[in-house]
Amino acid sequence: MNLLAERYSAVFERLTQAAQQANRNPAEITLVAVTKTWPAETVLQAYDAGMRHFGENRPEELAEKRQAVEAVLGPGNGITWHLIGTLQSRKTDLAADYADTFHALDRLKIANRLAQQLKENGRILPTLLEINVSGEESKSGWACQAWETNPHQQQELQNAITAVSYLPGLKLQGLMTMAPWNVPPQEIRSVFRRTRQLLEWLNTAVSPPLTTLSMGMTDDFEIAIEEGATHVRVGRAIFGTR
Ligand SMILES: *Cc1c(COP(=O)(O)O)cnc(C)c1O
Repeated sequence: MNLLAERYSAVFERLTQAAQQANRNPAEITLVAVTKTWPAETVLQAYDAGMRHFGENRPEELAEKRQAVEAVLGPGNGITWHLIGTLQSRKTDLAADYADTFHALDRLKIANRLAQQLKENGRILPTLLEINVSGEESKSGWACQAWETNPHQQQELQNAITAVSYLPGLKLQGLMTMAPWNVPPQEIRSVFRRTRQLLEWLNTAVSPPLTTLSMGMTDDFEIAIEEGATHVRVGRAIFGTR
């Protein structure tokens, strides 16, 4: 086995163990291999090692890599391209044209632009709302650091969900969050747990229910799985240090 295949299988083993620890079926969890900064050749090697879900945080990089990979494998290659980073409004057209799933919708202005462009190109974009439950100022996403007790934060989020549900092209499927940097594991766990509880709370009022929880990266994906993640986004553990 080559190094990439070995690392992939080690990550898969960690994922499986975490799922079993939490009495969950590992097959319910999607491992998104984060290829940002790595060239298209790396994606092709990862494809050969069996990976089919790839994550990029910049839309221009996703568009370029997707086209390079499709030039080799053809369009019907079974890959799902996840755009995992927040979008600037002048880049929404790239996301509308090239992303298969968008994890980081953080404001309605972006939703409106995406919807307009999706209407034009006829694509459907499964989308997650990025949630900021840690309250870190550097994090984007809907302000939810006090969602349990703050009616304003609850209302803002519910309004956003309603607004997005009326837009063409965007298919709202769940929530995404990022754990804070350099904090103890119990604090990371609390961020993931509160995000899952938020999803459950939203589902008492939202239909169809939101089912996707994108959380967990190289250093914390096991905790995320224990707290209910359906998608983990792992870069360094598979591809090495960027
Ligand atoms: C880079 C990135 C990841 C992967 O991080 P690793 O620490 O390399 O696993 C996950 N999610 C987002 C949004 C990222 O930008």
